[in-house]
Amino acid sequence: MTHQLPKLEYDYEALEPFIDAKTMEIHHSKHHQAYVDNLNKALEKYPELQEKKVDELLANNLKIVPEDIKMAVRNHGGGHVNHSLFWQWMTDDVKARDFKGAVSEAILKDFESFDKFKESFTDCAMKRFGSGWAWLVLNKGKLEIYSTSNQDSPVMEGKVPLLGLDVWEHAYYLKHMSNRKAYIELWWSIVNWKKVNELYEAKK
Ligand code: MN
Repeated sequence: MTHQLPKLEYDYEALEPFIDAKTMEIHHSKHHQAYVDNLNKALEKYPELQEKKVDELLANNLKIVPEDIKMAVRNHGGGHVNHSLFWQWMTDDVKARDFKGAVSEAILKDFESFDKFKESFTDCAMKRFGSGWAWLVLNKGKLEIYSTSNQDSPVMEGKVPLLGLDVWEHAYYLKHMSNRKAYIELWWSIVNWKKVNELYEAKK
């Protein structure tokens, strides 16, 4: 057993009314658990890879991962690393939700205003067809908004994820049905900018 489901830093109901407890519980205890289990299963016959961190497995488009398990590690390793961060990008700590710090200055410089940044990111998340993620990343030291399909992670192409939003239907369907826009709007209220800033400070 190498990879494990991380514990959340808050209770399932802590993000109410923005994200409902049932969605959080199923998303974490079922979906994320399945990514972890399937990643471990894929690595079963490669003990030398079991010691590697997920980021190392995914780096350079999974260069060190054998062909026969590449797709499984891409999907489930990607799912594991994306969700491990996703839980930390949301918080019940009201102070941590303040948009401030070096990353806020960089965003205001590159996107003119918070509203314009929010609009671009939201637009990117809305336009992702099917399942995937919207991201704010550092790409060669520059801020960039883009999206990936399925569980593909920015880490695979050497980009540093600063903030990511899960737009798979499992992230919102229970509460919002097909209304992805409503989910995204509420999500902005609980973003952990303190964490985003920490990631930015560590990598800028
Ligand atoms: Mn998800």
